[in-house]
Amino acid sequence: MTLRIGGCGGHGGFGVTLGKRTPDGEFEWNFNNKVWLAFEKTLKQYEGVDVRRFDDPTGRTDVPLATRTNGANAWGADLYVSFHHNANTGKWGTWSGVETFSWGSGQSQKIAEAVHPAIVSAYGLTNRGIKNGQHLHILRKTNMPAVLIEGGFMDSTIDIKKLRDDKVLESAGSGVAHAIAKLYGLKRKEAPMPVEAKVTPSKQTQGIGVLSIIENTVIRKEAVYTADIIRAIKPGEGEFLVHDYLTGWYNIGGWVYKDQVKFTPNNNVLITKG
Ligand SMILES: [Zn+2]
Repeated sequence: MTLRIGGCGGHGGFGVTLGKRTPDGEFEWNFNNKVWLAFEKTLKQYEGVDVRRFDDPTGRTDVPLATRTNGANAWGADLYVSFHHNANTGKWGTWSGVETFSWGSGQSQKIAEAVHPAIVSAYGLTNRGIKNGQHLHILRKTNMPAVLIEGGFMDSTIDIKKLRDDKVLESAGSGVAHAIAKLYGLKRKEAPMPVEAKVTPSKQTQGIGVLSIIENTVIRKEAVYTADIIRAIKPGEGEFLVHDYLTGWYNIGGWVYKDQVKFTPNNNVLITKG
């Protein structure tokens, strides 16, 4: 079964949504979009997820709210997340904080409770709490559970420092994604094998030498026993080009320990046993 996650960065960029900007003229959508992109990217690390945004990914138009909610309803989204940033007077002030809106006491509330701590922690700003968003179109007109997140004030001299920090916006998006994944019990995809780990037997004599496998062992990502295993490796796989040696470990793209291998150095290479 696939979990369909819909959502949007609020408004549009490039001044198409009047008023939604900092006193210095930065557009709200630009902040919202950065959070959305991290959200989407992080969700794609999980299996069984389909993500769709209902704002304009280019920011060139401000997709009407009814179009967004109709689209999510027609698609059959299982939940909806809308990312915003707050404004108070539109002139610089010292109000501050993050808040999450939901409507009703059901699954929307559960999602809000799951994601809000991630928002508080990502922005490192005052916790203004989870609020009733009954007045918000995006919560009222979506047929599925929905939340709307206000990640700090664009017209706050305190909050703007966070909003201008892409790392903060990225951790907000990824934090919300991980929180939703946890709530819905999503399983992380297996990490793809690093390119350098696609080890193939080699007859080359560059590097510091070659080795063959004597006993079943594993290739690890780093030269320590606790490092992640890239793959198992066994006798009969041929000779491997060795790039490096480090305190008992040979690098053949990943690291193998010396006791299970036979190493033959190149004639011109001196191995200093570490
Ligand atoms: Zn907004």
